[in-house]
Amino acid sequence: MQISTSSGAESLKSKPADVAAAPPAECDLAVVGGGILGLAVARELTRRRPDLNAVVLERAPVLATGQTGANSGVIHAGIYYAPGSLKARLCVAGAAEMYEFCEQHGIRHERCGKVIVARHEGELARLDELERRGRANGVPGLRRLSSGELREIEPHCIGVAALHSPATGIVDFADVARAFAIELGEEGTRVVFGCGVEGVRPLPGRIGLGYRTGGGSAGNVVQGETRARFAVFCAGAAADRLAVAAGASPDPRIVPFRGAYKYLRPERSGLVRSLIYPVPDPSLPFLGVHLSRHIDGHVSLGPTALLAPRSARDLTWPGTWRMARRWWRTGVTEIQHALSRRALAAAAADYVPEIGPRDFDGGFSGVRAQAVARDGRLVDDFVVSETERALHVRNAPSPAATSSFALARLIADRSEPGLE
Ligand SMILES: Cc1cc2nc3c(=O)[nH]c(=O)nc-3n(C[C@H](O)[C@H](O)[C@H](O)COP(=O)(O)OP(=O)(O)OC[C@H]3O[C@@H](n4cnc5c(N)ncnc54)[C@H](O)[C@@H]3O)c2cc1C
Repeated sequence: MQISTSSGAESLKSKPADVAAAPPAECDLAVVGGGILGLAVARELTRRRPDLNAVVLERAPVLATGQTGANSGVIHAGIYYAPGSLKARLCVAGAAEMYEFCEQHGIRHERCGKVIVARHEGELARLDELERRGRANGVPGLRRLSSGELREIEPHCIGVAALHSPATGIVDFADVARAFAIELGEEGTRVVFGCGVEGVRPLPGRIGLGYRTGGGSAGNVVQGETRARFAVFCAGAAADRLAVAAGASPDPRIVPFRGAYKYLRPERSGLVRSLIYPVPDPSLPFLGVHLSRHIDGHVSLGPTALLAPRSARDLTWPGTWRMARRWWRTGVTEIQHALSRRALAAAAADYVPEIGPRDFDGGFSGVRAQAVARDGRLVDDFVVSETERALHVRNAPSPAATSSFALARLIADRSEPGLE
């Protein structure tokens, strides 16, 4: 296996066989960003073209420090997404492949099922719409539940009706990413950790990726350039900055949202058997505060969705202000959730009344790389765009982890002509 780390830090919790200081000067394919998506893209393209000399450049010294390592861990079944959208198509296909891959590679996962709960009559029309979308998207096994049937599945949960999705499941996506990285290494593709791409420039027949390695406690910073025939950028929160550096439009811009989760105390985790979700606001690309069992046994409540600007420039982007004007009420609720354990617990008690503010202990947070258009619209669907000799994933929010196999196929289809 060939896992490289420029800082010398041990990555992947396994002993790297090849600790190289820098990426190659020349290659056919460079994937920027070693989250689940970048690794899936490298895997897909090198399987199609085993002759490719490919490399993955990952800024962090270890695996899954981005969104891949801090999320709800849900293998979504494909219910929410507008029929015909990329999310709808790629999530349904991707979920099936995710289960198959986990089974083949012995990765812990569970097809635990999920309920989407209508708390009152006013939410029934939106539940109907979700059911319609789920059926149109080909989600397997969807079933409408009465309030009594809901309690058979989640005995502590209340609601006037629910939608049950038995095909929804849980996994740790970092485990999947780790398996991708190990496979890539075994097949001769290097994943270089601690290597951040800082500049992009066109070259005759190539794209130049200016990188900087090291700089951690080990010191020894190295700057250099990898010249690739083609590059795929899967850089999550840095997607917009690198796309602009490669000559793309600044629209849409990534505006990060921090999502915080709180864990139920272990002695209270029996209140939730699997996954309990609200009926979401259809105009927002977030699924709402939910109760989820994780594959490690924790039960979490979250996420909140608070704006987490990377710099003042995120705040001066016109889309940020337009979005804030449109969503200020939602923002106030989110601030309450983030600041007050009581407010967050009250959101959970809408579904599971036995949950109270003292039932939580610890938690974690993740940062969503959400694209916001200049007009203030939160971009809903996956977005992949092109520049000279490169493809850029400009928006890959949830369910991109679930969809990673299918999204990687789409990206590979569009990259292959550039590798001829
Ligand atoms: C709170 C939350 C909950 C979610 N829940 C779910 C869920 O339940 N199910 C689901 O399917 N999806 C979920 N998602 C979405 C999912 O986590 C992401 O869609 C997915 O992880 C995206 O993968 P990625 O590889 O594109 O991004 P990331 O994992 O963020 O990877 C991007 C990588 O690029 C690297 N990088 C950045 N800049 C550079 C640079 N200049 N040079 C080199 N490398 C660079 C970063 O270090 C990072 O490792 C959730 C996301 C969040 C935040």
